[in-house]
Amino acid sequence: MISWQKLLGDSISDPAELPELPRETVEEIEEVARVYPMRINPYYLRLMRQAGPAISRQAVPDIREIRDDTGMADPLDEENLSPAPNLVHKYPDRVLFLVSGQCAMYCRFCTRKRKVGRPEMAVSDSTIRAGLDYIEKNRQVREVLLSGGDPLLLGDRYLEKILRSLRRIPHVEVIRIGTRVPCTLPQRVTAGLAAMLRKYHPLYINTHFNHPAEITPEASGACAILADAGIPLGCQTVLLRGINDDKEIIRDLMCRLVRIRVKPYYLFQADLARGTDHFRTPIDTGLAIMRHLIGRTSGLAVPTFAVDAPGGGGKIPLTPEYIRSLDEQSLRFTNYQGLPCSYPNPSKTPETGAATDAPEEGRRLGCS
Ligand SMILES: *Cc1c(COP(=O)(O)O)cnc(C)c1O
Ligand code: SF4
Repeated sequence: MISWQKLLGDSISDPAELPELPRETVEEIEEVARVYPMRINPYYLRLMRQAGPAISRQAVPDIREIRDDTGMADPLDEENLSPAPNLVHKYPDRVLFLVSGQCAMYCRFCTRKRKVGRPEMAVSDSTIRAGLDYIEKNRQVREVLLSGGDPLLLGDRYLEKILRSLRRIPHVEVIRIGTRVPCTLPQRVTAGLAAMLRKYHPLYINTHFNHPAEITPEASGACAILADAGIPLGCQTVLLRGINDDKEIIRDLMCRLVRIRVKPYYLFQADLARGTDHFRTPIDTGLAIMRHLIGRTSGLAVPTFAVDAPGGGGKIPLTPEYIRSLDEQSLRFTNYQGLPCSYPNPSKTPETGAATDAPEEGRRLGCS
């Protein structure tokens, strides 16, 4: 079997090597790739050929990337929210820690386009040390999300050093790895990797599939290895124009994910990253897709549709409007079929045992 390192080494990064590229566009695409690097490994290249535009548009540069002047270099204000290099502390109890600058394939819609695969993304022993120090000093950090780039492009040994250091910090309860490798280079997920990862539980992996054609036997095998190691798997899908902005495609994708033991976690409205304007869909598209999923398919297959607020405001769930009115007497709403329903609103008075705004409420309910 070919090793993942060999597959990665055989990636193409010069658009001129792309098969089936119209000659007149080569120069334009090379211009794009000089700004935003291209990397397509042999596995993903084969998938592109088999499955067509929905797959190739994720990987092949497009001239619109450098003509887009609407986006923002850093839409989520990550650089300003970084108390240490490559560490983003936005929410009170968790941090995003970028530990790799590379990916198995450079997605054209990447929100971190400004730095992945480029010199701007300087990850080194010293940035990792600084990030670990920050986490150690900040006891409110109970979850660490390793991302990048793709953390699984690090070698097993190097990644293990990071995991071991995190596990030495008592207040770090949960480790989460964000990786697209199960989708873009499933050969990277080896038995050896899984045996190493399982020593650092509770460890979660959120992966990233965007189209049902990406759920190949290889991808399914990679997810099985991870799930068999007791790693809960989630998926963060990005809604992309011309790729998956269709309710049947998304439903098919979500159901297939559940079948390979991956729980759909987020469906993202595409961020305002510069160079990705041509991928963004109207908010209504996502809401209509959610209406199509909720109630019509298993709750296991329903992700949270979310928008990450520009400027660092955080992820906000977007849910179709089911509530028609809410007053002291009743909640009136429509169900998933659009039929009117109502629910009598329990009274707020303590005599009836209903919830109150009293300060002791939390304690009485058993929360601390
Ligand atoms: C997305 C993100 C997280 C994780 O958010 P969840 O809603 O817990 O998945 C944490 N930190 C940053 C900076 C993020 O962008
Ligand atoms: S794998 Fe993730 S970080 Fe890497 S290019 Fe794709 S979206 Fe960006």
